[in-house]
Amino acid sequence: MALCGAAAAAPAQVQAAAAAAVKAHHHHQHSHHLQQQLDIEPDRPIGYGAFGVVWSVTDPRDGKRVALKKMPNVFQNLVSCKRVFRELKMLCFFKHDNVLSALDILQPPHIDYFEEIYVVTELMQSDLHKIIVSPQPLSSDHVKVFLYQILRGLKYLHSAGILHRDIKPGNLLVNSNCVLKICDFGLARVEELDESRHMTQEVVTQYYRAPEILMGSRHYSNAIDIWSVGCIFAELLGRRILFQAQSPIQQLDLITDLLGTPSLEAMRTACEGARAHILRGPHKQPSLPVLYTLSSQATHEAVHLLCRMLVFDPSKRISAKDALAHPYLDEGRLRYHTCMCKCCYTTSSGRVYTSDFEPVTNPKFDDGFEKNLTSVRQVKEIIHQFILEQQKGNRVPLCINPQSAAFKSFISSTVAQPSEMPPSPLVWE
Ligand SMILES: [Zn+2]
Repeated sequence: MALCGAAAAAPAQVQAAAAAAVKAHHHHQHSHHLQQQLDIEPDRPIGYGAFGVVWSVTDPRDGKRVALKKMPNVFQNLVSCKRVFRELKMLCFFKHDNVLSALDILQPPHIDYFEEIYVVTELMQSDLHKIIVSPQPLSSDHVKVFLYQILRGLKYLHSAGILHRDIKPGNLLVNSNCVLKICDFGLARVEELDESRHMTQEVVTQYYRAPEILMGSRHYSNAIDIWSVGCIFAELLGRRILFQAQSPIQQLDLITDLLGTPSLEAMRTACEGARAHILRGPHKQPSLPVLYTLSSQATHEAVHLLCRMLVFDPSKRISAKDALAHPYLDEGRLRYHTCMCKCCYTTSSGRVYTSDFEPVTNPKFDDGFEKNLTSVRQVKEIIHQFILEQQKGNRVPLCINPQSAAFKSFISSTVAQPSEMPPSPLVWE
C-alpha cells in the first residue's frame, strides 16, 4: 500500500480480471426516438453490502474499470422501496472525495420489467477490514492519513444532516494510493432533531455500536458514527477489534470495563432495563491507560484523540469537525493535501492549496420526498423517472448485457451473508 508517489499496482485479482466484451448496439427506447445504449458486462463479484451485491465491470465508454452495485428485491414492499430510493438519492447527492457516490445508474427497462437497480461507482481495490487483517505493515503515517480521511468524509456527511449508522472497516474502501471512501448507505438516514421521535435500534454492526444504542436509547445523534470511528482508530493502532463481544450485553460490559461505570447523567437516554443492568453490576474504575498498550503508535496525541471519541455520553463525544482540529491529524492532513487529494494542485512554483481543507455541504440532504411515498407502484414509477432524469445531457446511457455469461450469476447473486448484517438489538427487561 503506497503512500503518495507512484501508484502501486492493483491487487492481482483486479488486474487479472478479463477485459469485458464491449459491444454497442441500437436499442429501442420506450420513448419515440432511438437512443444509443452501451452494454455493460458483469465480470466478478467484489463485495457485499448490507443491501446489495457489488461486481467489477468495465465501462465500455472509456474502458475504465468501475464497480457495479445491484440493489435487488427493491420493490418487494414499501419499506424496501423507500430505503433503496433514499440510498439512490444520497449516492447521487454526494460530491466529496472521501464519500462514495454514483457515477451512473444503468438504464432501467420498461417499468413492467423494472425489478432491480444497478448503480455504477468508482472501483476501489480494498477496504480497511481487509487491510487490518492482512499481514501488510501499517505505519503511523497510514493510520493518520486513514483517520484523517474517515473524519473528513464524516464531517461532510454530518454537515449534510446524514447519519451513516454502519461505520465499520469493511465500509471504508481504500485504493492502492490509500485514498479512502466511506461507502454503503443502506442504513443511512437523515438526523432526527425531534428527540421525542423514536429511531430504530437495528443499526451498526455490534462491535462498532455506540453505548447509547446498546442501552436502548430511542433517540440518538450523529455521535453514534464517531463512536464507530473511535473503535476503528483503536483497531488500526492495535490491529485487532477493540470491543469484540459475543453478545450486545457483553459488548456493553467490555465498554464499561474500559471507560468505567457511566454516571447516571451519561445514561439518561438509556432504557430502564439497561440502566438497571449497569447499576446491578460491580462499580468499575476506568482503565483508559491500557490504550497505550495497543501499539507503539499509541502516542499521547493518539490516545488523547481516541479518548475524546470513546466517550460514553454522546453529548460529550467529540464531533468530526472538532476531531479534525486535533493536532494528531495535522500530518495526515498535510500528506493528504500534498499528494493525494483532488482539491489542491501543483504548479511550477509549488503546491497551491485549497482554501477549505475539509469542506461541508450546503444545503443539507433533503429527505422530504419520503413523506409522499405511499405505495410500491407509485415509488416504482418515481424511481423509474428519477433514473431517467439522471441521464439527461449525460454520456451514452449504459444497460446491463443479458447475453453475457456472467449475467446469470450476477442477477442471481444474493445479498450479504447474515453475519455482515447488524444483529437485532437486545430487548431489555
Ligand atoms: Zn487538497
